[in-house]
Amino acid sequence: MTFDLTPEQDQLRDAVRALGRRYGHSYFVEKARAGEHTTELWAEAGRLGYLGVNIPTEYGGGGGGITELAIVCEELAAAGCPLLLLVVSPAIAATVLARHGTEEQRKRHLPGLADGSQKIVFAITEPEAGSNFHRLGTVARRDGDGWLLNGRKCYISGVDEAGHVLVVARTEDSSTGKLKPALFLVPTDAAGLTRSKLDMEILSPENQFLLYLDDVRVPADALLGESLDAGLPALFAGLNPERITVAAMGAGTGRYAIERASEYTATRKVWGGRSIGSHQGVSHPLAHAAVQVELARLMIQKAATLYDAGRDLEAGVSGNMAKYAAGEAAALAVDTAVQVLGGAGMTTEYGVATLLGAVRAGRIAPVSREMILNFVAQHVLGQDKSY
Ligand SMILES: Cc1cc2nc3c(=O)[nH]c(=O)nc-3n(C[C@H](O)[C@H](O)[C@H](O)COP(=O)(O)OP(=O)(O)OC[C@H]3O[C@@H](n4cnc5c(N)ncnc54)[C@H](O)[C@@H]3O)c2cc1C
Repeated sequence: MTFDLTPEQDQLRDAVRALGRRYGHSYFVEKARAGEHTTELWAEAGRLGYLGVNIPTEYGGGGGGITELAIVCEELAAAGCPLLLLVVSPAIAATVLARHGTEEQRKRHLPGLADGSQKIVFAITEPEAGSNFHRLGTVARRDGDGWLLNGRKCYISGVDEAGHVLVVARTEDSSTGKLKPALFLVPTDAAGLTRSKLDMEILSPENQFLLYLDDVRVPADALLGESLDAGLPALFAGLNPERITVAAMGAGTGRYAIERASEYTATRKVWGGRSIGSHQGVSHPLAHAAVQVELARLMIQKAATLYDAGRDLEAGVSGNMAKYAAGEAAALAVDTAVQVLGGAGMTTEYGVATLLGAVRAGRIAPVSREMILNFVAQHVLGQDKSY
């Protein structure tokens, strides 16, 4: 057992950290307030190969795994730039394509995802179905050679920045007549696909959308994979990378908040010569948050290692636990940082309250803490399902 990164992973971490620090949280906040995207940071990260670390080398990537992508997510977040689209495009879409796409789909999409020139976002959530994906109502019907898609999706991140959206729909199985899931690569400018931006209380340069699919016609090769049977495994293929990288982003955000707060409390003096950090009422909550973040990081490392070793089922348990732990730890760390900074905690200048919305959302999305507890209760503790 080792807790050390390889020399290459160490170098990657240092390099991504340096890139993130050059942009910093103020860049992230300015972009969000201006309603703009972090285009420059994304492009530079792509040029330097950080967005494609987990993509096979034959498609222009770095040939690494989710361990490497988690490092990228964590370090950018630790520099104050938690980029949600890292979880969607390189983690979910690239993994699904690399593992289950046709050779033609891989060749067409992966190089652009690797160098950052292309983004593919992911649409599963629906207003009526919510956490219950068995109720998905978006349906794809055969239409000549192609498919006709109809349905509605909500909270879909980054549609305005992406060339394609990977839509989870249901198709009729020709042999059984039953509906089963299938994934479609739909161009974001396809006729019949419209969107409206959701107003969210999260300060972020990335936006969420309602998507309407009204008779969206796509060709046969928009169906992800060689056949309809690819749908279910492809859907599951995206889940572990999603949970692990979103957890890494949470851990990085927690580290960022604790670092900002520790710098402040070590130097702020309001009772004579001692820093406020010398008071345990200030330092213990910070230390407690630091312990929680570090515990989450350990579980992220375990989940990523299992995933990269091809142990998907075990990675599923650890990935869910890592996501839960990191979501809670990030929310605790940011809240604690705001508290120990006092009034400064609520200013824009000190850059911690700006993350309150994002870390709060991290306990709901992409999978809520309750659904993870359901998963652990059923699959680890052997409890009956109540729903
Ligand atoms: C910032 C943000 C970005 C997002 N980006 C995307 C995206 O890019 N693509 C995408 O497809 N989706 C995206 N989502 C949607 C996200 O995945 C969902 O919000 C999430 O899965 C929860 O679904 P819901 O909002 O419908 O909640 P609901 O399913 O309505 O649940 C509401 C509450 O009830 C709880 N609950 C529900 N069922 C149970 C149960 N059986 N037991 C216990 N508790 C339960 C939930 O945990 C939750 O707290 C995003 C959401 C946010 C906030």
